[in-house]
Amino acid sequence: MNGKVVILGAGAVGTTVATYLKRHTCHEVTVFSSDTHTAYSQCGIPFVLEGVIHDFPDLIVRPLDAFVDMGIDLHLETTVKRIDANSQKVISDAGIFEYDHLVIATGSLPFVPPIDGKELDGVFTLHTLSDGMKINSSINDASRVLIIGAGGIGTELAGSLAVRGITVTMVEALPQVLPLTIDPDMALLVQQHLNSLGVLVVTGAHVNSINGKQHVRSVSVQGDTVPTGIVPSDVVIVATGLKPLSGIARDAGYKIGITGGIVTDEHLRVSADGGILDNVYAGGECAEVKEFVTCSPFISRLGSAARRMARVIGENIAGQDAVYPPTLSPNVVVVGEVTAGSVGITSHTATLNDISVVCGISEGRTRAGYFPGGSQINAKLIFSNRRLVGAQVVAREGVKERIDALSLAIRMGATVDDLLEWETAYAPSVSMIIDPVTFAADDAKMKMDGLA
Ligand SMILES: Cc1cc2nc3c(=O)[nH]c(=O)nc-3n(C[C@H](O)[C@H](O)[C@H](O)COP(=O)(O)OP(=O)(O)OC[C@H]3O[C@@H](n4cnc5c(N)ncnc54)[C@H](O)[C@@H]3O)c2cc1C
Repeated sequence: MNGKVVILGAGAVGTTVATYLKRHTCHEVTVFSSDTHTAYSQCGIPFVLEGVIHDFPDLIVRPLDAFVDMGIDLHLETTVKRIDANSQKVISDAGIFEYDHLVIATGSLPFVPPIDGKELDGVFTLHTLSDGMKINSSINDASRVLIIGAGGIGTELAGSLAVRGITVTMVEALPQVLPLTIDPDMALLVQQHLNSLGVLVVTGAHVNSINGKQHVRSVSVQGDTVPTGIVPSDVVIVATGLKPLSGIARDAGYKIGITGGIVTDEHLRVSADGGILDNVYAGGECAEVKEFVTCSPFISRLGSAARRMARVIGENIAGQDAVYPPTLSPNVVVVGEVTAGSVGITSHTATLNDISVVCGISEGRTRAGYFPGGSQINAKLIFSNRRLVGAQVVAREGVKERIDALSLAIRMGATVDDLLEWETAYAPSVSMIIDPVTFAADDAKMKMDGLA
């Protein structure tokens, strides 16, 4: 099998598709990226800013030479301006390139709200390795950082910078941290941990303006529950969400969904004029897929999901019949020493989708009470019609494993009774004799049966 494959984007999706095709097919593979670097871990950037990882080059997981050695024609700092769908060509800074298969893996860009002063020196977004480097050199001279937005990136960053010894204020418009992934009661545990690290978390508040002449000096914050105030700040990091980079696909006539992402079918093929295109794929943060519980259009903003999509695209271009099923996108956010994980839908998403739910909660320990080093663990299970549709866990250890198991449980259609029959392993140094998740299932069952 040999044809020309052009890939727009050399992030998680683009590089994975390229290497898969080079390993398993004889396709000519050309990859374009506007970025200065490739094959690095965006997910690791907060850990360099914290000081846990020594330096940014440590995040590069595959050197440029490796792509050259594999025969991949990689063009960094090269933006593709247009796709000519009729003649199957892309028009880039480096010239015009023909394709037999096209992969759109352009990711997303940080969304920055129209706040006065957002263009001042010292105001950043965090998306690329270069962003991380710029923030790092700025905070070397800064003592006060204000983060706008308490989603995954903002919250993780707040923890990292606080551990580094910086005075951090985080302002979030909604009434809780991590509003898209966990419920308010679980978010409070994360917020309390941030407070214990010295982070001032201001929820239910807006940033009216970023102030300063050339460089940021302060931020004006107005809140529902806090008085309007001026917060002195040397650096501001805007972490108010992402918008999919789908404009180039829209201009080419490909269908864009209500999320702003490129609509894909279960094979991750795009569509145009009402029909699926057999040779054009989209994956990662620019692609709209389906969420598992609600079947709603959804963009997964996770490296783990991006890698899975890339594999599906690679296999399909290689002639297989691979499917990307509706996603649960299990995720964990590491905030200082605490990890907050979730999978499936939150209570808020359930309400938005008119799904009636019963929640079970529990609080326990990650190790036997007498064993040193354990931590408090809080679990929350969300059921609809007795089936598990969401799960959240907050603790200092053991979060990812439980979220992963519960992800499988949701996908397999587990009921509250299945979870009560779930046998879990025990040793005092790593668990309690009955897992805290079981107690959350117990709590939910009691409520369902009218006993609580
Ligand atoms: C700070 C941070 C922490 C994160 N932590 C985690 C985590 O812990 N766990 C997790 O699962 N996920 C995490 N993520 C998310 C994860 O990194 C992304 O979901 C994933 O990298 C998305 O992959 P992608 O290929 O869709 O996009 P990207 O990796 O962003 O790649 C998109 C590429 O397209 C290029 N591009 C765009 N337009 C064009 C064009 N017109 N022409 C040429 N090139 C173009 C860009 O330059 C870029 O190289 C984190 C992200 C950030 C920023």
